[in-house]
Amino acid sequence: MVNSRVTALNKSATLKITALTKKLKREGKDVVNFAAGEPDFDTPDFIKNAAKDAIDKGFTKYTPSAGIPSLREAIAEKLRNKNKLKVEAEDILVTTGAKYAIFTAILTLTAVGDEVLIPSPYWVSYPEIVKLAGGEPVFLETRESSNFKVLPRDLDAACSERTKVLILNYPNNPTGSTYSEEELSAISEVAEKHNLFVVSDEIYEALVYDGKRHVSIASLPGMAERTLTVNGFSKAFSMTGWRIGYLAGKKDVIKEASKIIDHTTSCSCAISQKGALAALSSPDWQEKVKNDFQLRRNEMFDNLTKCKFLTPFKSEGTFYMFCDIRKTNLNSFEFSSRLLENHLVSCIPADAFGLDGFVRLSFSTGLEQIIKGVDRIKDFESRL
Ligand code: PMP
Ligand code: GLU
Repeated sequence: MVNSRVTALNKSATLKITALTKKLKREGKDVVNFAAGEPDFDTPDFIKNAAKDAIDKGFTKYTPSAGIPSLREAIAEKLRNKNKLKVEAEDILVTTGAKYAIFTAILTLTAVGDEVLIPSPYWVSYPEIVKLAGGEPVFLETRESSNFKVLPRDLDAACSERTKVLILNYPNNPTGSTYSEEELSAISEVAEKHNLFVVSDEIYEALVYDGKRHVSIASLPGMAERTLTVNGFSKAFSMTGWRIGYLAGKKDVIKEASKIIDHTTSCSCAISQKGALAALSSPDWQEKVKNDFQLRRNEMFDNLTKCKFLTPFKSEGTFYMFCDIRKTNLNSFEFSSRLLENHLVSCIPADAFGLDGFVRLSFSTGLEQIIKGVDRIKDFESRL
């Protein structure tokens, strides 16, 4: 009865475990939440006030499907100044969260049977979005020895006649790795050689540590024509529930993509668009958030290095710490279930990201929780 394209989808493990953690907390359980896929602080007041003002002024109707002109212009300006992209307002499509920007991008580019390369480990939703669009996910394995980054020779070898798109995500969820300009440049050469489109998910761009600079692949020579850049407000401004993101690319592709918005969501939430416009007026906010997260990253990493069986991989960005748990002789699912049931620490088993033997710990929580959670992990290890 149900469309096989839908029955073939997996439930989102990240959303499922996040919901379970929140439920246990509501029931009064003292759970340390290392599963969180969203910032732990509240949306800043200046954004909330802009949204309240929008409601009070009756800005509550449909907007143009691609977004309000002032927001499209503000996003284009941000991308020109910060990301060195040569874009105008017509090159921007405002979407219902970054997730919908990815879906719109993949649906726009992928015909039935086209192959979409997904570096693994990968964020849970990419393969499912590709399947939903009728494409074929093809996994491109990355290795710890190369910091879980795509190597140009592996990319070259993975391309076939049917390869249409490469999904790149950096800073990466779940590994926390990111790419330098040189590394992106080498990837771009292979993308050009095989005439690939790149969907570049840069939603964690504001969270890059140790003085590293985020570079957008679309800013490199020859890449603007073959890149759709995905970004949004969820992570940088803690606006996950506002459901607001965007897609940037060449206006002829964006114009086609906007037809999908016309016939699905109509437009993104008018009130959230006003909130997003306010968010872009305060670039300083992101520096503060980044500094807080870097402290947390350091605290979690330093504590985890004292674990007996678990080995952390130091993230360069995001709020995730990817950890090797193979020395425990448990698989990812067993590790995370036992850790939650017996020691009240939630985390995401990395088989959901296509790699068993690892887990993802989120440091989107306070320093005392980080210390408490790692102490519980050590206690768990001592009983293995
Ligand atoms: N891409 C990645 C890599 C993510 O981790 C997330 C978080 N859910 C998204 C996209 C989607 O973000 P949004 O909440 O704006 O849809
Ligand atoms: N991106 C977050 C995560 O990976 C949020 C959950 C989701 O949308 O999948 O946990």
